[in-house]
Amino acid sequence: MSAIKRMLAERKSAAPKPAVRNSVIQAEDPPFRKVLIANRGEIALRIILACKELGIQTVAVYSEADRHALHVRFADEEVCIGPPPSSKSYLNIPQVIAAAEVTGAEAIHPGYGFLSENPHFVDVCQACGIVFIGPNADIIRMMGNKAQAKATMKAAGVPMMPGSDGLVATVEEALEWAEKIGYPVIVKASAGGGGRGMRIVNSPEKLPDLYHTARNEAKAAFTDDTVYMEKYLLEPRHIEVQILGDLFGNVVHLGERECSIQRRHQKLIEESPSSALSPELRKRICDTAVRAAKAVGYFNAGTIEFLLDARGDFFFMEMNTRVQVEHPVTEFVSGVDIVKEQLRIAAGRKLTFTQDDIQLRGHAIECRINAEDPFKFTPSPGRITALHFPGGPGIRMDTAMHQDAIIPPYYDSMVAKLIAYGSDRTEALARMRRALDTLVIEGIQTSAPLHRLIMDHPDFISGKFSTKWMETFLEELEKERAEKR
Ligand code: ADP
Repeated sequence: MSAIKRMLAERKSAAPKPAVRNSVIQAEDPPFRKVLIANRGEIALRIILACKELGIQTVAVYSEADRHALHVRFADEEVCIGPPPSSKSYLNIPQVIAAAEVTGAEAIHPGYGFLSENPHFVDVCQACGIVFIGPNADIIRMMGNKAQAKATMKAAGVPMMPGSDGLVATVEEALEWAEKIGYPVIVKASAGGGGRGMRIVNSPEKLPDLYHTARNEAKAAFTDDTVYMEKYLLEPRHIEVQILGDLFGNVVHLGERECSIQRRHQKLIEESPSSALSPELRKRICDTAVRAAKAVGYFNAGTIEFLLDARGDFFFMEMNTRVQVEHPVTEFVSGVDIVKEQLRIAAGRKLTFTQDDIQLRGHAIECRINAEDPFKFTPSPGRITALHFPGGPGIRMDTAMHQDAIIPPYYDSMVAKLIAYGSDRTEALARMRRALDTLVIEGIQTSAPLHRLIMDHPDFISGKFSTKWMETFLEELEKERAEKR
């Protein structure tokens, strides 16, 4: 047994019994007595930290591959829910519910991914008398179907990207819509997520093939091959707004996040605020998001995603009905603990602040650290042989990595989030650079070296980039590397 495993095991067995722990003076009564976390990795740990602060007992669930994972070690109780593949463990609804029932958990926090946006799971929780920490099944169902979400948002007066009204059932219809919208267009899966089931089409000749590939990919990924179409913006920025709503109809926003640094439609770097917004535009986007959330009776934490074009027009893209990977940048600039708010809201508590109370200050940047070759992007699972986390003013690292941890090949490659905060963007950038310089992860390859290069790039420093930027940057990089070889 390694030193850290021994230390953690000893600490857990010596931990005071819950009754004693709850007698420690708390600023408020715990919103729940016991919460089960239906997730793994950094987000499971993040939720456990929020529960600890609120005096809530925690139950971890884990697959056989995660027996020694940190979320299991830091939770008060743990239940193994199956073999390594997610379909047999973290997505296994009967096992998750059984774990909540045997441990007496009152509520389940789903984190992001896995069961977090599964309305059937929310129905099952409700039927079993377990509180789901998130909005209700109807809202999740509506937002999970992107074509339906768009129709709802359009009715609420949110600006829409020109596109098909609803689903596009045949190639003929697709050709007609594309003619109306104007090329380039994008074919998107209505059940889409993680950038899958999307195809960009530049001309009518290419449309039939790409239409079918999008449908096939959607069917394989989501067992739903329905698609819709939109105008494809050439160099947009991805701007999203963090929302919090309670069960009493109060909705506030916590400002926007800039998520344009993406590879293959997957976010790599996020920041708040966005350098692309003037104060007026920021107010318009954020107010639109609040209006949209109110229109659907939204509660708990949610994110409304928009695309912003070069002219300053913005269009609704989708709403994510869960905590977002990049929530820490918002926590830094708003001072609000989003996960604690999720727990309070789910317990039926009113928001304790209004929009006017929220002051957004400073600047925060997040780099997603993936276990992969930083330039070829091939997965790099394995054992962590050496580890040093950066610290110092304004640095936060959300991760479940530890010395000797095994990064299993079965799950998402994101193993850490490094977040830097500063009084302004320049300071946040300087802190991110020195944090990346003092981050040590050995035994696996990570995307940290790629982030370090981006932090020094004039385009990134100037804040002038779009969702296309990464593609061009990677081509440049490849050329340079080829010349050196
Ligand atoms: P997913 O749910 O799979 O993540 P999204 O609808 O959120 O898909 O889109 C992911 C990314 O794809 C966006 O951030 C953007 O970079 C790109 N994208 C989506 N729709 C468009 C569009 N109409 N024009 C240009 N880029 C788009």
